[in-house]
Amino acid sequence: MLGGTAEARALAAALVAEGVEVVSSLAGRVQRPRLPVGQVRIGGFGGVAGLRACAADFDAVVDATHPFAAQITANAAAACTSTALLRLARPGWAADDPGSWTWVDSHEEAATQAAAGQRPFLTVGRQELGRFVGPLAEHAVLARVVDEPEQPLPPGWQLLRSRGPYTVDGERAVLAEHRADVLVTKDSGGAHTRAKLHAAAELGVPVVVVRRPPLPAGLRTVADVAAALAWVTAQGLAGKVGRGPA
Ligand code: NAP
Repeated sequence: MLGGTAEARALAAALVAEGVEVVSSLAGRVQRPRLPVGQVRIGGFGGVAGLRACAADFDAVVDATHPFAAQITANAAAACTSTALLRLARPGWAADDPGSWTWVDSHEEAATQAAAGQRPFLTVGRQELGRFVGPLAEHAVLARVVDEPEQPLPPGWQLLRSRGPYTVDGERAVLAEHRADVLVTKDSGGAHTRAKLHAAAELGVPVVVVRRPPLPAGLRTVADVAAALAWVTAQGLAGKVGRGPA
């Protein structure tokens, strides 16, 4: 399991309950990751060749990484030529769009759009913040992250360190307290961080959404944990002790 998401943890729990031996892989990006049940390994594989060598020890690979983790998804598609591979990716938020959101294809474009406001609320994650620093250097930015960013931020920026899930009440309070006049998000999808979108709609705060990166062609994909569980079961793994490393 290529993990790092709530869906990956839920699938790992469901598979372990079915008697499947699961090894979850985490990139090691956050200081205190939420750990799934089952075995866990942490750190990169060393690109496609490393992932291919690792995958060869397994009966199947589920790529349940975040929808914006495009590199590992591309690597998995390239590496798993001899190992069954499934992509589990939760649906995006397009259905929540009241028709007023601004959709963009990149974080750079999102930064340009956000510059039209004075007090942006950035919820794009620590790794993307650098792409907003230039265009928004003079803005009163509130940036929410799990871990402290490595690069220094402009003096007018405020950092909010927290980790979801979030409620609509809480998100309304954050937006109101900052007097945010634009919310920037990527189309992560899922329930854990959706509340900000409803709070923004209530308060009339414009929303800029970064579209997901495209998936590799031909990748078998499911949208929820139940479908992924059914796929693994169909591989004949339920009740089987896996061949993965200890
Ligand atoms: P990425 O850009 O797609 O991947 C960069 C490199 O990180 C990969 O080439 C791989 O290194 C390593 N890597 C990524 N996921 C890994 C995993 N599950 N296990 C082992 N190595 C992994 O990834 P990212 O966007 O930095 O995200 C890193 C992890 O954080 C992902 O696993 C993802 O599920 C989680 N996450 C990401 C986001 C987001 O917004 N991007 C949000 C929440 C959680 P090697 O080439 O050395 O194998």
